Amino acid sequence: MPDRYKSVLLFGAPGAGKGTQGKILGRIPGFFHLACGDVFRSLDMTSDLGKEFLNYSSRGELVPDELTIQMWKQNMHAQTVLSLFKPKQDLLVLDGIPRNVGQAKALEKSLDVLRVIHLRCNDEGAMMMRMRRRALKENRIDDADERVIRNRFEVYHAETLPVLDFYPPAIVADIDAMGSPAQVFQRVLDIVVPVQDAHFNRPSTAAQ
Ligand code: ADP
Repeated sequence: MPDRYKSVLLFGAPGAGKGTQGKILGRIPGFFHLACGDVFRSLDMTSDLGKEFLNYSSRGELVPDELTIQMWKQNMHAQTVLSLFKPKQDLLVLDGIPRNVGQAKALEKSLDVLRVIHLRCNDEGAMMMRMRRRALKENRIDDADERVIRNRFEVYHAETLPVLDFYPPAIVADIDAMGSPAQVFQRVLDIVVPVQDAHFNRPSTAAQ
């Protein structure tokens, strides 16, 4: 068993902006971003696994834990083998996983969670609007239907929010998810930069 991956979790309701922030962060050397939903969406939708994913996501439900964890582990392994993710140099930024307490427990052996960044937004109307806009732009059928969106929020409250209590309160950072992507990103950086400094020895890029 290799060392556990040093990680930060991007956490928040659907539409809170985890993916947007994760993608920006993932462009910076020393961070590696992996969104569980992106891994699922990259599956061949005619394969058994792809069909299973569609079956759950089209209803706004979570894919069963065993399948999710297995797929996540395989993907992490592949990213590591390809050297896209370098565990000794990169802080892993996860978004969309763990999504319930069962997954958090199942990942304990694989993850050293240094920080949980809770993108907090009390305005569900605003998040729903973001999701509808994204559904049209990114062709995401799961977010185009009002009932499915509502169900996703219900699942978030019932299954995902309890994950916050699974981790020690001292590592959970609440940040305001309202504002422009750049404003929110500034808040995210305030949290992750000290984590990276404390755990990784990064040569300055100017010398490379
Ligand atoms: P968003 O970014 O809008 O919150 P995602 O792209 O993360 O949504 O997820 C899309 C769908 O993929 C979910 O509704 C769910 O069906 C499935 N999914 C993603 N991550 C997980 C996970 N960790 N466990 C179970 N299902 C997941």
